[in-house]
Amino acid sequence: MDEPIIGGWHDGAPWQGEGSGPGTRYGDVHDPATGRRTARVAFAGTADVGRVVARAEVAGREWGAASVTRRTQVMFGFREALHRRREEIAAVITAEHGKVLDDALGEVQRGLEVAEFACGAPHLLKGSFSHEVSGGIDVHSIRQPVGVVAVISPFNFPAMVPLWFVPLAIAAGNAVVLKPSEKDPSASLLLAECWAEAGLPAGVFNVVQGDKEAVDALLVHPDVQAVSFVGSTPIARYVYETATAHGKRVQALGGAKNHMVVLPDADLEAAADAAVNAGFGSAGERCMAVSVLVAVDPVGDDLVPMIAKRMSTLRVGDGRGEADMGPLVTGAHRDRVASYLDAGTEAGAELVVDGRDLMGDRAADDETADGFWLGPTLFDRVRPGMSVYDDEIFGPVLSVVRVESYDAALDLVNANPHGNGTAIFTRDGGAARRYQQEVQVGMVGVNVPVPVPMAYYSFGGWKASLFGDTHAHGTEGVHFYTRGKVVTSRWPDPGTGGIDLGFPRHD
Ligand code: NAD
Repeated sequence: MDEPIIGGWHDGAPWQGEGSGPGTRYGDVHDPATGRRTARVAFAGTADVGRVVARAEVAGREWGAASVTRRTQVMFGFREALHRRREEIAAVITAEHGKVLDDALGEVQRGLEVAEFACGAPHLLKGSFSHEVSGGIDVHSIRQPVGVVAVISPFNFPAMVPLWFVPLAIAAGNAVVLKPSEKDPSASLLLAECWAEAGLPAGVFNVVQGDKEAVDALLVHPDVQAVSFVGSTPIARYVYETATAHGKRVQALGGAKNHMVVLPDADLEAAADAAVNAGFGSAGERCMAVSVLVAVDPVGDDLVPMIAKRMSTLRVGDGRGEADMGPLVTGAHRDRVASYLDAGTEAGAELVVDGRDLMGDRAADDETADGFWLGPTLFDRVRPGMSVYDDEIFGPVLSVVRVESYDAALDLVNANPHGNGTAIFTRDGGAARRYQQEVQVGMVGVNVPVPVPMAYYSFGGWKASLFGDTHAHGTEGVHFYTRGKVVTSRWPDPGTGGIDLGFPRHD
């Protein structure tokens, strides 16, 4: 066992002690392009989490009392550190997640934009003031930090998803305990180093590595006040129910099944490009990936061959090299995704492009022979009731469902239990406007296949894609990480006073 051991971040420094001692548990970290185990991650136990939360609670109280000017200076320092180290962070993401380097850099950039938004803390945290609401009485509101915030993140965006939450939580004066995915844990430690370089006091930002045990410890800890979670729907529901039952505010973002509707009047060349980019970018391991293309008759006949042709040009390979698409995150996940290819065929869907064809291409002595590969796959004539449609596959599998009208497309999208993202491709402004009004989905693209909101808007789906009522970042993020207080004040002249038991009449 000579691989490095990845630990957490506690009290302003790497925390290698985590997980040590009797009963220690570890997870394996792989390089998905080679299939080799490159490190082990030490899982925090309940006691470890307790120690980190206790330190965070003290550090958070001091940090929350620091001036907003001081906090903003640290935010600018964090933004600079993140920007300076973006390529290093991207390289670590590619090494543990597998996505191509350019895509990893894009992920860091989108997270950086939330850090930039959080640099506006003095404005974002402003309260309101009403002068002379009654004789000599003023009212003002303030927003105060909630305390310790837990952030629990998924494997598919090991930098961006933590950055959706952490900068705003810290700018608002809270302490954070981040529990990243155990599959790609290292990016979180580089984020911790960036915070330290920015001058954030020790104990305000912390990382615990681990699995269900660490998550459960955070969900029930009395000093954790708020939980921001992103992951699959069953775990999001569990996190929401458990943490709210323990008195915490919770935003739990779940899984997705994103539909891209193509109307007959759409620019089909643009739609085919979009379907390939949104279906196979990051090997389909994006919560905003397009996994269902809804072809309104008769576009399927032209569009399916156009998509298949483009797919044949995609280079699948090691994300550090010349590739458009990398491997899947683990061997187990690759096998699960690949199992849908048989399931879809058996259920009667038409397998137009079989991503398994690529798996035999690599020579046994190729460095990447044991990587977690699956090529881009296209199914046509998919229908609800087939597992390839009903399940979130979270891999490079695009399903085409053919429908006869706009209304049938809308009904299909709205009947799906998920409501994360969707897109419509059309040249008809009226149809696009109708769709954005009628669709039961949180993020809508019009001729934009992956409509991820900018940092100053809020990110979040509807239905089984989000439990809780607050979306991530933007002003909803500021709201989530602060508690409102309203102060009514009077500074009476010495001459005023007297007894009056009536309700004020404001005259
Ligand atoms: P996951 O649900 O398996 O894991 C997410 C987090 O929960 C991880 O930190 C993991 O350690 C923890 N976890 C896993 N099982 C747990 C359990 N039984 N109890 C407590 N904690 C547990 O998700 P994943 O596979 O890492 O990520 C992919 C999923 O995330 C997909 O479903 C994807 O759609 C979703 N996702 C959603 C969004 C969004 O914005 N809605 C964004 C990114 C990813």
